[in-house]
Amino acid sequence: VVADVPVTPGTRRRIDVPVARLPTGTWLHLPVAVLHGLRPGPRVWLSAGIHGDELNGIEIIRRVQQTVEPAALSGTVVAVPIVNVFGLIQQTRYLPDRRDLNRSFPGAPRGSLAARLADLLMREVVRGSDLGIDLHTGSQGRRNLPHIRADLSDERTLGPARAFRAPALVHARTRDGSLREAAAQAGIPVLLFEGGEALHFDEEAIEAGTQGILRVMRLLRMGRFGKRRKAADSFEARGSFWVRATRGGVCRLGVGLGERVEAGRELGVIADAFGDDARGFRAPRPGLVIGINTNPLVNRGDAVVHLAEADATGAAGGP
Ligand SMILES: [Zn+2]
Repeated sequence: VVADVPVTPGTRRRIDVPVARLPTGTWLHLPVAVLHGLRPGPRVWLSAGIHGDELNGIEIIRRVQQTVEPAALSGTVVAVPIVNVFGLIQQTRYLPDRRDLNRSFPGAPRGSLAARLADLLMREVVRGSDLGIDLHTGSQGRRNLPHIRADLSDERTLGPARAFRAPALVHARTRDGSLREAAAQAGIPVLLFEGGEALHFDEEAIEAGTQGILRVMRLLRMGRFGKRRKAADSFEARGSFWVRATRGGVCRLGVGLGERVEAGRELGVIADAFGDDARGFRAPRPGLVIGINTNPLVNRGDAVVHLAEADATGAAGGP
C-alpha cells in the first residue's frame, strides 16, 4: 500500500501522490511506480531527481521498470523517478524557495515546502523499505564517473554496494539533512549512485546505474532480470578530495573520468585567454578521477578534478 492505494501481488501500478498546488492552481503530484512481486521478498526503493536538474536517474528507473516483471519478482520495487517535482519544472537543483531538498530530510508535515516533500517521501516510500538506491548526477558544470557513495563500514550496505559493480565505490559520511542520513537513522541502508552531469543523458552512467540496480536485486534474491553483463570489481576508495584551480583563467584538462593518476601527475593547465602565463596543476596524491569540472572558465580555488583515493583515512568530502 502506497498513499492508501493497494497494489495486488504480481502487478504494477502507477500512483500519483498529491504534493501541493502551484500558484496557477494546478496540483503537483509525486509520480510513484509500484512493482509488487508475485512472491514475497524485500522491498527496495529507487529515487531520482531529488535535485530537479539531475535527469540520468529518470532514464535509469525507466529501464529498470521496463526490465522487471512483477510476475517474476520476489518482493517489491517502489520507484520515484522525480522527487523534486518543483525543481524539475524549472530545470533547477532546488525548490522554488531555493532550499536544497537533500538538506531537508527527514522533513516535517507542517514545515517548509522542502520539509513537507521530504516528509512525504519518508512516509510513503522510505519507511517500510529494506534498502534504498538514490540516483544523482554531478551538478551543473560537473561530470561524474558512475560511482556509488555509501557507508562501507556498515555490513548491510557493503554487500549491495559491492554487488552494484559501479566503476568506483567511495566510502562517504552522510550529510546533515540528506535522504541517506534520514534513512540511515531509520535503520535502512542506502546506496547513493552518482553518474554523469545535470541536464544531460549520459549513456555510460545510465547503463552502469541500470545494471547495478539489477545486480543488487539479484543479490537480494528478488529475481534475475535482464541479460547478465560482466563488470570488473569497483575501485574501492576510503575517501575522495578535490584538486582546486591555482589561478583564475581558461582551464585545459589533461585527464578524463576513470583515469588512474599517480602523485605529481599534471592534471591540466590554466592560462589566460591567449594561453600565456600558463600554470599546471598536479595531483598531490594518487587517485582515480571520479569527477571533473566541465566549464573551462575557472576562478582561483574552484574545484576542478575530483579524485578518489584507495587508502585515505576519513570520509569523502564534497566540493
Ligand atoms: Zn544530486
